[in-house]
Amino acid sequence: MDKIVMKTPIVEMDGDEMTRILWKMIKDELLLPFIDLKTEYYDLGLKYRNETDDQVTKDSANATLKYGVAVKCATITPNAARMTEYDLKEMWKSPNGTIRAMLNGTVFRAPIIVKGIEPYVKNWKKPITIARHAYGDIYLNSEMRVEGAGKAELTFTAADGTVTKQLIHEFDEKGGIVQGVHNCTGSIEDFARCCFNYALDSKQDLWFGAKDTISKKYDHHFKDIFNEIYENEYKTRFGEAGIEYFYTLIDDIVARIMRSEGGMIWACKNYDGDVMSDMVSSAFGSLAMMTSVLVSPSGVYEYEAAHGTVQRHYYKHLKGEETSTNSVATIFAWTGALRKRGELDGIKELCDFADRLEKATIATIESGRMTKDLALITTLKDPVVLNSLDFIKEIRKTLEEMQV
Ligand code: NAP
Ligand code: MG
Repeated sequence: MDKIVMKTPIVEMDGDEMTRILWKMIKDELLLPFIDLKTEYYDLGLKYRNETDDQVTKDSANATLKYGVAVKCATITPNAARMTEYDLKEMWKSPNGTIRAMLNGTVFRAPIIVKGIEPYVKNWKKPITIARHAYGDIYLNSEMRVEGAGKAELTFTAADGTVTKQLIHEFDEKGGIVQGVHNCTGSIEDFARCCFNYALDSKQDLWFGAKDTISKKYDHHFKDIFNEIYENEYKTRFGEAGIEYFYTLIDDIVARIMRSEGGMIWACKNYDGDVMSDMVSSAFGSLAMMTSVLVSPSGVYEYEAAHGTVQRHYYKHLKGEETSTNSVATIFAWTGALRKRGELDGIKELCDFADRLEKATIATIESGRMTKDLALITTLKDPVVLNSLDFIKEIRKTLEEMQV
């Protein structure tokens, strides 16, 4: 069979530990035999990040801005232990943080659904995609503990020197706590556009909730911005696509999500997204089945698995022991990137291949062949537990059976 030919490269960001091992297996078994794969390769493994003073991370983000589509392997975020393990010059920042800042993007996380791995919430039939606004609020706060009586005030000094003051609270002798948080109109607008674009892209309804009845300026500003951008820029296209934008109070959203069958994008303010993404991913069963895509307001896409480098399995692998690490989310990062590249370049065969590889992956699991993490939670009888490589080889077999 002829290999599928690509036009524009995908930016390939290699990574660390067990996921770096899976990365090569996926390419060798599932991609290179079928596609004349064109990538621009960046090694984001910690060793090379250290050698280049982390310049490689910035270069890979710039390449993503240039080409529009990237796929990223999980990478180590250095901590004290890694400083000695890798003899680092500096405690380099999280690559994801650097890339997200350079792309100014929003992260969308969605579970991969297969029969036999049932969500804990029994009415959830379709994925719930969480979009987290990753700027501001309590994550960039300024806070104080006050030990005695006194008055806390909000002060804003305008560029022209005009001062506006507002009382927060008059404390009694027992004191208390005060916190200042902010968000920026530009950042909220970018977040809203990312969400509306991704909803159109994936043809799913968009839900957004905040606490505007209590927070009449702060949360209300989020609600107003979303509403204004929707009315002015997206309403017509949403209508044509047959999808909806739905705003309600955050607590009402939570209640409705629990009763829903899923299938929507849930846009969350920063803190809500932090909390709710962990709830949604654990309710769907496994972190190893969660995909993640960073979308910039200008329409640049970076795909990855939501999990980390699976360090514990890597140490087993280094000792020569067999591992059974789940490669599904990393495979779906590749299929996401290939499909998007195919859409942007008008290569239907590439999109079809991405669909087929996803179907083959799901079909393999549904036939009872899976990695250990899934075997522990499946409702299927007598699952066959495969090692890391054999699982990928079984997917290849399924894929080859599906080839026309
Ligand atoms: P992790 O790599 O996500 O793994 C935590 C545990 O979850 C594993 O030990 C394993 O459990 C299970 N697990 C996760 N992915 C799995 C998979 N694909 N297949 C099977 N089991 C899986 O998180 P971590 O151990 O906290 O972090 C390791 C490194 O990853 C850290 O250096 C961190 O900085 C980095 N990290 C990177 C990213 C990213 O690049 N996006 C995200 C998060 C963390 P068992 O051990 O019980 O089998
Ligand atoms: Mg969290």
